[in-house]
Amino acid sequence: MTAKSLATCIFCKIIKGDIPSFKLIENEFSYSFLDIGPLAKGHALVIPKYHAEKLHELPDQYLADALPTAKKIATALGSENYNILQNNGKIAHQEVNHVHFHIIPKPSESDQEG
Ligand code: 5GP
Ligand code: ZN
Repeated sequence: MTAKSLATCIFCKIIKGDIPSFKLIENEFSYSFLDIGPLAKGHALVIPKYHAEKLHELPDQYLADALPTAKKIATALGSENYNILQNNGKIAHQEVNHVHFHIIPKPSESDQEG
């Protein structure tokens, strides 16, 4: 992590409120919001309030908050079918270099018909 990556990081800017977002949950350790390019309705992201590019660089107290927050969002979505996804590194499809967890609902066929 460099000072430059922090200053230019879009997720750090979202945490600071410099870039608007649709906030879901915020606490001392994390900020969660709707993904701008959802793979399904309700696709959300949980990001730690600490600039680490990859999971292994993230202090444990931030990591410890992420899954319970993802669980709250999954519960609020009310879907029995969803994926939790967390990419690390360019060839593993990480596009934003600030640790984040995706919560991606998987609507059932009957959900999609409606
Ligand atoms: P990655 O491929 O890095 O795991 O996922 C990055 C995610 O961040 C993508 O799903 C993308 O749509 C989302 N994203 C990128 N920029 C923004 C933004 O400015 N606002 C929001 N809400 N989501 C963003
Ligand atoms: Zn950042």
